Amino acid sequence: PAKPYLRGRFAPSPSGPLHFGSLVAAVGSYLIAKYYGAEWQVRIEDIDPPREIEGAADTILRQLEAFGLHWDGPIIYQSESIPRFNEILEELKQQDLLYACDCTRKKINKLSEDGRYPNICQDKNLSFDGEVAWKLRHRQDDYHFYDQIQGQCEFETSLYREDFTVKRKDGLMAYQLAVVVDDINAGIDHVVRGIDLLDSTPRQLRLYQVLGKPAPLWYHLPLAINDDGNKLSKQNHAPSIDSQNPSKQLHQAIAFLGQKPPVALRQEAPEIIIDWAVEHFSLESIPRQQQIPYFD
Ligand code: GLU
Repeated sequence: PAKPYLRGRFAPSPSGPLHFGSLVAAVGSYLIAKYYGAEWQVRIEDIDPPREIEGAADTILRQLEAFGLHWDGPIIYQSESIPRFNEILEELKQQDLLYACDCTRKKINKLSEDGRYPNICQDKNLSFDGEVAWKLRHRQDDYHFYDQIQGQCEFETSLYREDFTVKRKDGLMAYQLAVVVDDINAGIDHVVRGIDLLDSTPRQLRLYQVLGKPAPLWYHLPLAINDDGNKLSKQNHAPSIDSQNPSKQLHQAIAFLGQKPPVALRQEAPEIIIDWAVEHFSLESIPRQQQIPYFD
């Protein structure tokens, strides 16, 4: 294939070990990067200590190795970028793109039918000191973008007019800011992740715009759901993948992505399975919709 990309990434939060759903995101981002001859970086998004589980970052890295997902270059720890995030926040503040908001979730829910923030603090000029969230003014007239898997994506006005948090009330960095600044720093030119993050994309596009940087290309993967229709997640206690028996689960994750690995490959080492999947990769075969994975 042509080689349009330099670098992709997998960016897990260390809030627990990888489960089948996060394995799919890891495998999907790996296959797309390698298919296009790009590097694949791993970044641990460790900027939310209340949600962090001790030892989870190391467990995730050992799991990736056991599954034959070998990263390029050093592991990036997002917490090391916090000084950079603060610098960017100062720049945005200077440009009057930010304001402080002291609303509680309860108040927002009362004022807004759809739970979206109605930008009520935008003209209040509240101080940035103290217990306030920092909001980025989100003015766009029209929001749509092209996703390499999902096709053309359009959003409701309420989403693309909603000012959003770049620094949280508890003083922690917001995911939206951290992910964009780190992706820019690392030269990430294609972002592959679960479709549960699709709603974040217009906000992130707004950040690329105010930071004056070109946005990456987007690939939102189908989600693995359970029988109740809920996403497999750490929150609903999806079981951890089993590093003792990687080949079968790797085969299942590749099949979940619509690829057709021969069953005989299950007898092989993970690296052989992955190489097969890169070589036979078909982007068009990745399903758009969420699916219940087939575990045999
Ligand atoms: N750290 C985020 C998560 O685990 C993923 C960020 C991304 O891929 O944009 O949900």
